[in-house]
Amino acid sequence: MRYADSIVDLMGNTPLVRLTRVTEGLQATVLAKVEYLNPGGSVKDRIALRMIEAAEADGRLKPGGTIVEPTSGNTGVGLALVAQRKGYDCVFVCPDKVSEDKRNVLKAYGARVVVCPTAVPPDHPDSYYSVSDRLVGEIEGAWKPDQYSNPEGPASHYATTGPEIWKDTEGRLTHFVAGVGTGGTITGTGRYLKDASAQRRQGPVRIVGADPEGSVYSGGTGRPYLVEGVGEDFWPSAYDPAVPDEIVAVSDADSFAMTRRLAREEGLLVGGSCGMAVVAALRVAERLGPDDVVVVLLPDGGRGYLGKIFNDRWMASYGFLRDDAGLTVGDVLR
Ligand code: PMP
Repeated sequence: MRYADSIVDLMGNTPLVRLTRVTEGLQATVLAKVEYLNPGGSVKDRIALRMIEAAEADGRLKPGGTIVEPTSGNTGVGLALVAQRKGYDCVFVCPDKVSEDKRNVLKAYGARVVVCPTAVPPDHPDSYYSVSDRLVGEIEGAWKPDQYSNPEGPASHYATTGPEIWKDTEGRLTHFVAGVGTGGTITGTGRYLKDASAQRRQGPVRIVGADPEGSVYSGGTGRPYLVEGVGEDFWPSAYDPAVPDEIVAVSDADSFAMTRRLAREEGLLVGGSCGMAVVAALRVAERLGPDDVVVVLLPDGGRGYLGKIFNDRWMASYGFLRDDAGLTVGDVLR
């Protein structure tokens, strides 16, 4: 019989799929690595597993311990899944702007969620940062993974994402493109691909980061943008700026338009950072020829964004789309 012992054993080994419609007119092959096919629905399953196993190995996380992390999104889901399997408690701290649906996903996996007010400064005792520090200090056996500084994040991508891409492309990829949030994905995957290709005749894989306009990685000041999960207003230590050869800045409007095209034309219902990364990948591919192979990583699925990117009214409220939320029978029959 062929089966996995637990859902956690199915993390990683995600497939590559060729983009065929949004790449029209381009000569290079563009392959998407589809990370929403991980059990928790995102690339973050990889770092969750590795951070927890490393903390177990060096004794920071002991049997019966509690994982405390300020996160509302994909990392929380990965941590909750692995924690449940291994018998740890999880407490996530998130700001009140995070949607109830997102909090309920974490609770569904058995985690506890503490909600903090968004409208207080970081040093306020009720802030997201203060509350998570206080919980770590006061819960016995608490451990905070801290994805922004934990070296196991990039290490998980060096150990899994990079080798998977290298093997599936038979070492023929020429470019790797990924969005930068904590920087773990681009740092670990990029480093592996550069190491693996260092000796080959055609030269090393070129590593390209995609960043929302306004974020620090592409020279911005940290001004706000709407794409979620990528860009920062500080430089996390999980990011090694020596790995990317180039950073491409992408606007919210372009990111969201491409996200919608990926669903409609490629059958890929993915999140906004995926649209952003694909825009960057296509800009790179425009200058390439038929022998080039671009791999772009798509971090998560689109279900978490139905109220935003895939909601015509929300898109229209930011000027990204004309508001045509409701069609009449007449519109359809016309
Ligand atoms: N996209 C989404 C939706 C994410 O949640 C993240 C993680 N913050 C990223 C992209 C960026 O990945 P990384 O943190 O590894 O840079």
